[in-house]
Amino acid sequence: MTALLSFDDLKQRVASGDVDTVLVCLVDMQGRLMGKRFHATNFVDHAYIETHCCNYLLATDIEMATPDGYASTSWESGYGDYVMKPDLNSIRPVPWLEGTVMVLCDILDHHTHEPVSHSPRAVLKRQVERLHALGFEAKTATELEFFLFEKSFDEIRQSGFRDLQPISGYNEDYHILQTTKEEGIMRPLRNHLVAAGIPVENSKGEAEAGQEELNIRYDSALNCAEFHTIAKHATKEIAWQQGRAATFLPKWHHDRVGSSSHIHQSLWTLDGDSAFFDKTSEHGMSQTMSHYVAGLLKYAPDSTYFLAPYVNSYKRFAAGTFAPTKVTWSIDNRTSAFRLCGDGTKAIRIECRVGGSDLNPYLALAAQLACGIAGLEEKLALAPPTRGDVYKNKRAKNIPTSLRDAAQSLNRSKMLRQAMGDDVIDHYARAATWEQEEFDQVVTDYEVARGFERA
Ligand code: ADP
Repeated sequence: MTALLSFDDLKQRVASGDVDTVLVCLVDMQGRLMGKRFHATNFVDHAYIETHCCNYLLATDIEMATPDGYASTSWESGYGDYVMKPDLNSIRPVPWLEGTVMVLCDILDHHTHEPVSHSPRAVLKRQVERLHALGFEAKTATELEFFLFEKSFDEIRQSGFRDLQPISGYNEDYHILQTTKEEGIMRPLRNHLVAAGIPVENSKGEAEAGQEELNIRYDSALNCAEFHTIAKHATKEIAWQQGRAATFLPKWHHDRVGSSSHIHQSLWTLDGDSAFFDKTSEHGMSQTMSHYVAGLLKYAPDSTYFLAPYVNSYKRFAAGTFAPTKVTWSIDNRTSAFRLCGDGTKAIRIECRVGGSDLNPYLALAAQLACGIAGLEEKLALAPPTRGDVYKNKRAKNIPTSLRDAAQSLNRSKMLRQAMGDDVIDHYARAATWEQEEFDQVVTDYEVARGFERA
C-alpha cells in the first residue's frame, strides 16, 4: 500500500490545481511537526531543494521557551539557521486538509550541510544504520493512546483547563457501543490516515472514560516513527475540526488511567527472515532475541527518559493501571515492562510497555534499538521470565520513578553516550533538567489546597 507521491506526481497535481499547499515539516524534540506552509508552485519550482528555519527549533521547550545550556545554539551564537532538506521520498497527501500535501525534512547544518546529530530523525537513522551493520532490520509498531474531550482545545484553555469532560462517561475498553459515539472523529481519522499512506489496523476503546487507541501496522523503525508522528498530529487536527480536543498528556487526572505508547519490536535478517523466531528454542525465542531483550532490560533505566520525557510522564507508572513499575520481562503478561507477544510463532516480538503517549517516537525507537544492540554486542544472557502480578514483585528493579532519576541515568549512561554520541546525550540531558527546573519553580494546585489553611 502506498499513497506516497513521487516528485513528478506532485508537479502534475500542482499543475492541474489539485494541490495548492505543501506542508514542509521537521520533527522537533517533542515529536511535533514544525515548519512552513508553502504555496505549491513555489515548492515545486524552488523550495524542494531546501528551505531554512531558526536553529532554536531543536532547542526550545514545549512552550517555545529558549533555555540556556545547549551547545548547539544559544542567544550568544545568535540563533542562526538550519537547512531544512525535504526528503522527496516522503511526499504524502494530507486528506483531511483541502489541496494539501506534506513532506518531511532532514535537518542539516547551515554551513557544512552535514546532518544535525541531535535532530530526532538523525538520531534514529544512526541506530538503524548500526543495526544494519550487524545484519538486521527492525520492524516496529508504536500504539497511540489518547483521550477525547467534549470541548475544543480553545474552550478548555479558556476555562483554565478545569472544564475537562471526557467524551464518554465510562471505561470503554473494547466497547463498540461507546466507540460508535466517537466515530465522528475516529472514522475520518482511520480513513484519512490510510489515504495518506499510513497503514492503520484498527482503533478501539481503551480502559478509561474517553480513552481511545489507534494501532498502525508494523514497519521499518523510520516509517513507524513517521506514521506515529503524523497520526498523532492528525488526531489533534481532526478532533479540532470536530470541535473536540484530543490529548496525549500521559496522565490528565490522578484518578484516571494514563495513556501509553507501547512499542512492539522484532528483528529481521536483511533477507527478510525473522531473526527473533527459532521454533526449536523455548517460547520460540532465538538466541538473537534473548540477547536483544536482555539489552532492553539491562539498559532500561538509561533509556527511560526517551520513553517518559516530562514530569507528568512519571505519574503514569502506578500499580494496577496496566502501566509498568518494574523492569521485568514476562510472557503475555501486561503487568511487566516488557511483554513477550506471539510466543512460539513467527509473529514473536517484544512489547515495551514503559513509554507514555508523550514520547517522541524517533527518540524512543532509537533508544530501544540502542539498548537491544548493546544486548547483541555484549551477548547478554536473559534471566527467566517473571510470572504473576509483577507489581507485587519486591525483588525486581524499579523503573525510574521520576524525571530527575531518569535524567541522571541518561546523563550517566556510557552505553547511550557511545551509541548516540556525547553531543546528543548532552543535548537531551539538558532538555530533561530544564523540564525539572521549570516544574520545581511552580506552586501547584495540590500544594495550595493541601496547605492553605492547614500548614
Ligand atoms: P495487542 O493485543 O497488543 O493489541 P496486536 O496484535 O494488535 O496486539 O498488535 C499490536 C501491534 O503489534 C500492531 O501494531 C502490529 O502491527 C504490531 N506487530 C505485529 N507483529 C509484529 C512484529 N513481528 N514486529 C513488530 N510489531 C508487530
